[in-house]
Amino acid sequence: MHGERQWPIAPRVPPIIGGREEERGERLAVVDPATEERLTDIIEADAAAVDRAVTAARAAFDDGEWSRASLEVRQRALLQMADIVEAHADELAWLECRNIGAPIAQCRGRHVVRAILNFRFFAEYISQTAGETYAQQGDVLTLVTREPVGVAALIGPWNAPLALTSMKIAAAIAFGNSCVVKPSEIAPLSVHRLVELLETADPPPGVINLINGRGPVTGAALAGHPDIDLLSFTGGTAVGQTIMAAAGANLTPVTLELGGKSANIIFADADLERALDSAILSIYANNGQQCLAGSRILLQRPIAERFMDAFAARAEALRIGDPTDPATEIGPLATKAQFDRVLSYVDTARCEGCELLVGGRRAEGFSTGYYLEPTAVLAPGNRATVCQEEIFGPFATFQIFDEPEQAWRIANDTRFGLNAYVWTARLDTAMSAHRALRAGTINVNSPIIRELRAPFGGFKQSGVGRESGAACEAFYTEEKTTTLPCADMPIHRMGTGS
Ligand code: NDP
Repeated sequence: MHGERQWPIAPRVPPIIGGREEERGERLAVVDPATEERLTDIIEADAAAVDRAVTAARAAFDDGEWSRASLEVRQRALLQMADIVEAHADELAWLECRNIGAPIAQCRGRHVVRAILNFRFFAEYISQTAGETYAQQGDVLTLVTREPVGVAALIGPWNAPLALTSMKIAAAIAFGNSCVVKPSEIAPLSVHRLVELLETADPPPGVINLINGRGPVTGAALAGHPDIDLLSFTGGTAVGQTIMAAAGANLTPVTLELGGKSANIIFADADLERALDSAILSIYANNGQQCLAGSRILLQRPIAERFMDAFAARAEALRIGDPTDPATEIGPLATKAQFDRVLSYVDTARCEGCELLVGGRRAEGFSTGYYLEPTAVLAPGNRATVCQEEIFGPFATFQIFDEPEQAWRIANDTRFGLNAYVWTARLDTAMSAHRALRAGTINVNSPIIRELRAPFGGFKQSGVGRESGAACEAFYTEEKTTTLPCADMPIHRMGTGS
């Protein structure tokens, strides 16, 4: 274990329901991906515990102390939460790093920074919200106001729990809702500590409830619970389909942030040094376990060989190691299942005629831990399995194109549509990409950048709905239309014979 400072890991991770920890429930081990040793246990919330959490959230909502609190009260609490998260940034980053194996520098520099920003962003956003009035009819004035919806179920993935789940919590409570948070059973540590810390800002009990457990047990009980009013989910496309079906049975509105297989299109006229930096970052940051990964790299023919050589050299030079070491660039994958799965794609790629450019094996010198070499293959075409399925690991595929239209066709030839990257010196090429690509977010000559003000979400099977200031306002509030008379307007008097 590296680093001067280490933080205690709780011997068990219990649910937090109505402000209190619960001890009942099956225990499930949480494993350290770097050592394969047990880190702690979660106490799984079964259907009855999920029901208690939803009931606590409902009671808090109906009580009104938070749902009808003034803007200033909610804003102050959210800013206080941001400060508390900031004050515990190193601890939260360390827990995230130990739990999912993402390098500590990335947990501290990206995940926690984003978590802090999420609370500040929504604190500020709510002070700018406005209603609507319609006075065109003259004798009546119609007001459109927004109010919180109720109980929000928030289900998050294991690859960046702090950044992604804090976005959901901040957005849900900023608009006055109560919530029940379910992180992945694989990665409960940072979110559990986050909720403990948020409780110190004294939101009324039951506004933020936390339950842990397996997706098909705890997650399914939450998604299908008849008394939730909203469901926000980030995770894989297959689970997203199950969740939408469960929510649909109760007509619960959902947002789904799902998987991706994003194209990173690099033209011969691009700034290749920057394109290389970004290509490496977009596929290998967070050990490749990121929805926005630029996992299909499309190269224009004149620069293809040179770019792949430079990419392979940089991939080989990445520092693989203990994720708690600040110098580490690639840590272990989050679970054994994930390690085996990603490695299995190397065989699939070989069988389908791909050329292995770099990596493809357990990292040398690591007999324990889920360490995999940064991997890249040149695929014979976009129909190869590794160009179609989301691998969700440090695994890049390359393809070569000649004309822009061919690049757009390959980029769009996928069931996903989360994001895309384009590298070119020509504005008209960038604008053609903007028009042609079927993706929710497009980065031109820039790496992953998340602008919280702008909608984020996927086309096609990458998602349903969007997250952003305005999109979250629309999702986490109900519109109410109220009409008032402006004058003594006549009312048709039925039943009077006149
Ligand atoms: P999963 O879809 O496997 O799980 C996501 C969450 O859903 C977890 O909390 C999981 O619990 C839970 N879950 C699983 N089954 C059910 C069920 N039947 N009912 C209710 N909940 C369930 O995703 P991963 O955690 O593996 O995350 C990786 C995926 O997330 C990738 O596809 C990635 O692209 C996507 N993702 C998308 C992002 C986006 O913004 N578009 C951002 C980040 C990731 P448990 O793990 O305990 O089983």
